[in-house]
This record gives sequence, C-alpha cells and structure tokens, in this order.
Amino acid sequence: MASKVTRSPGADSSGIYRRPRLVLKLKRFEDLPSVLEKTKSYPTPVRMVGADYSQTRCVGGDGGTTVDTAALDKIQEFGETFVRAQAGVRVGVLVHALAERGLELPLTPEMGQISLGAVAVTTLPQASFGAGTAQMSSCVTELKLITPQGKQMIVTEQQRDLMRVLRSSYGLLGVVHEVVLRVRPLTPVKIDYQVLGLKDFSARFAAIMQAPGALRLHISPFTDKITVERRTLDESASLSRSGIWKIRNSVMRNVLPAFGSSVGSVLAAGVQRALGATLDRATRGVALYAHEWMRELPNEAWKARHTYSLWAFPQSDFPRILGEYFAFCKAYYKQHKYRSNLVSGASRLHQDRGSLFSLSYCGPMITLEPSSTGEKGWDDFLIDFNDFASAAGGTPSFNQTRALQPEHVAKSFGERVKLFKALRQRTDPLNRLRNSYFAYLLG
Ligand SMILES: Cc1cc2nc3c(=O)[nH]c(=O)nc-3n(C[C@H](O)[C@H](O)[C@H](O)COP(=O)(O)OP(=O)(O)OC[C@H]3O[C@@H](n4cnc5c(N)ncnc54)[C@H](O)[C@@H]3O)c2cc1C
Repeated sequence: MASKVTRSPGADSSGIYRRPRLVLKLKRFEDLPSVLEKTKSYPTPVRMVGADYSQTRCVGGDGGTTVDTAALDKIQEFGETFVRAQAGVRVGVLVHALAERGLELPLTPEMGQISLGAVAVTTLPQASFGAGTAQMSSCVTELKLITPQGKQMIVTEQQRDLMRVLRSSYGLLGVVHEVVLRVRPLTPVKIDYQVLGLKDFSARFAAIMQAPGALRLHISPFTDKITVERRTLDESASLSRSGIWKIRNSVMRNVLPAFGSSVGSVLAAGVQRALGATLDRATRGVALYAHEWMRELPNEAWKARHTYSLWAFPQSDFPRILGEYFAFCKAYYKQHKYRSNLVSGASRLHQDRGSLFSLSYCGPMITLEPSSTGEKGWDDFLIDFNDFASAAGGTPSFNQTRALQPEHVAKSFGERVKLFKALRQRTDPLNRLRNSYFAYLLG
C-alpha cells in the first residue's frame, strides 16, 4: 500500500485525548476499501482526520486507526457553477483558487484550515445570506464515499434524505474522498457596523433582523456592547481594501502563532485592538471580497483549539437569551472570579434543513460563541455554560461545542438523534467507524 503508517503517535497536548494505535497518511483513496476491510491490520475504530481543527473529540482515536486525508489535495474540476475536489483540500486553498477564477462559495468561513471532508459531514454554521444555506455542508451537491463495508457510493442532491443524513455523519456512515460544491460569481461584500448596548439592541432587534445581509455579532457582556456587523452582497460596491483588514488578518496570522496556546492578556489585547481598529475604519464603510476576511491559524491545530465553544438559539428569543447570558457571565464571575478574555462571537443563521444536525433545522437561529485564549478556568466555565445554554433551549454542534453531554444532545435533537442512531446501527453494525465520543453522545 502506498499510504504511510505511523505506529507511535505523539500525545495531543491540546488536552483532547485521542491515542489511536495507528496513524495512516492516506496517499490514494483507492486504499480505503482495504483499510476498512482489514480489521486486524487497521484496528477499530477507523476515524478520519482532515485539518484536525475541531474543538471536540469527534475525530477520536481510542486505540484504533486514524486516517489522515491531507494528501488527498487535488482540486479536480472548476465549472461555472460548481467545483470538484478531493476531501483533503483545505477550504482556504479552495477559496483562493476560486477567487482567481472570479468565483466563490456561497458561504466563506473566517478560517481556512477546514478540510472539504469536514465541510461535507460536520456542522459548520456561517453568517448566512438567505434561507437554505447556513451551514457549509449545504454547499455540497455531490459526495463520493466508501461505506464501512468498503463499497464505493456516489450521492447527489437528488437523493435528498440520504444527503441530509450524510451531511451530518461525522465519518460514522462512511469515508468521504471527493466532493462537489456549488459556486457563484465573486461578489463584493459591503460591511457596516453598529455598536449598541443591550437595551438598544433589544429595542431595534426586529429591524436588525429584517434588513438584508448576513449578520455577525461581537458581544462584550462586561462592557454592555454588542457590535452588529452586517455583510451585504453589493455588485456595485467599489472595493476599498483598506489596510485595516490586513491589520486584523496580520494579528490573527502572526500574533496568534507566535504566542501559541499559552497566550495571555497580550494576545487578547492585540485581538481586541485589531477589532477596534477595524471598527473605526468600518464605520465609514468597507467593501471587500469574502475570501479577504479569511485568516490562517497555526498549522499545529492544538495551539488554537481551545479558543471558543458554540451553541445556537432561536432567533425570536435571542434578545432575552442575550440578557440572560450577560447575567450568567456576571454571576459566574462573582462566584468563580473567572471571565473569558475575548469578545463572544455570534452569527445569524437562516433556516437550513440540508443536514440532519443543522443548527437551524427548525427555524432561524443565532449562535453564541464564548471565546477565550484558553486560560485557567475556561474549561470549567464551559461546563456551566453548557447547562445554561441547554436550559435556554440551545442547540450544540458535535465538532464545535466542548464538554457536551448526552442529555444536551437528546434535548436538542430528540427524534433526529434516534433516527441517526438507527441508521448508523444498520449501516455499521460492527461499529467499525464509531469512536467512544460518539458512542457516549449518540449511542
Ligand atoms: C481557533 C478556531 C477558529 C475557528 N474558526 C472557524 C470559523 O470561522 N468558521 C468555521 O466554520 N469553523 C471555525 N472553526 C471550527 C473548525 O473549522 C472546524 O470544527 C474544523 O476545522 C473542521 O474541519 P477539520 O478539517 O479540521 O475537521 P477535523 O477536526 O479533522 O474532523 C472533523 C470531523 O469530520 C470527520 N471527517 C473529517 N474528514 C472526513 C472525511 N473525509 N470523511 C468522513 N469524515 C471526515 C472527522 O472524523 C471528525 O469527526 C474554528 C476552529 C478553531 C480552533
């Protein structure tokens, strides 16, 4: 076999426990059927890893085989409305290659280290422009995968129900090796900011939601500030690639890697300053292409993995929930003397039923993403925040919500979890692809 096997993987210093027995650097997708079939050579569970940037143990190891897809890195075909690429291609690489051809994805995340395999099968919500496309997986129109039994499968959008399940399958129903994504012509995005206190934000909430565009919020519970970032597609906008966005990207690219995971208040201050500078300039209006807001994080994923957790809440309840979140953060600080040292992010998500575990499956939602440099107290804070979020009717993500518990999952996804579990048991009765993280959360 051309693919390379390593026998003694290093421990993961991020605190995300894995311990696979083998790490296989896959060179050709044609090797996958035999990897899945040979249970003695490639111990169970067989788990894929793409960019390795998830916040949780969704990759897992558990004494099994971790298959690294990084070498499946070919972009195979550019069409006017689609692009075909292998699962190991990073979104950042793809988005820049598309931009050179005057094209873009319908959604562009802010970081580039996401593999297309993960785009196809995990929950990656983005500030959305309209109904139907609020998670990255909804941009996927076709995928090729190898089933747990080693069989090749091609699934297209026409098979809607199957596609919906696969787009939330986390490698539990098969290994994706190729995807087709929808693309559209590159369009300038106008960015405007409005800074409000909670009271004003709540009073203007209906109008803020109704106005067109994608919404990203930057939330500071302790200074009572909500910065509303509106991104509007505007073909007529003249581009003003101000140096300010470069400053922001430079901080993310250079400061973050330099400080690694042990960053303290220096990084926090740097990020806040960059955001502040961006805001000052942006009040005068900025227009840019979506790929210009993308940033590259350190290649060693563990250095940045601790930095946020994510839940989504029904849009209609959001002002009230935000008020409760402010109160929760302040009460937590009073009791435990801990508060996270970065602004919390949030994205408005239009309804998107394209994947079973879509955060906005039941209707429009807004995420809440407490963020931190990972200092002492952060992990405990997230455990309590999870209980707060679940009680407030939140929905979590299996790859971006840390310290998730089965009761949170059951409460949020109800019948959808039961459906997925039944399907998984039928398609993978020997649990070839299931690790302990998903056994714990999904059964
Ligand atoms: C600091 C930081 C900032 C972030 N910012 C953003 C952001 O702006 N926007 C955003 O959307 N996300 C963001 N994320 C989240 C992150 O992008 C995703 O959770 C993660 O990158 C998913 O891609 P990955 O390739 O790293 O997946 P991995 O962590 O490698 O894998 C994720 C899951 O998919 C499965 N999988 C991977 N490849 C395959 C395959 N080929 N076939 C089947 N299953 C597969 C894995 O087994 C695992 O269960 C950020 C994360 C960090 C740490």
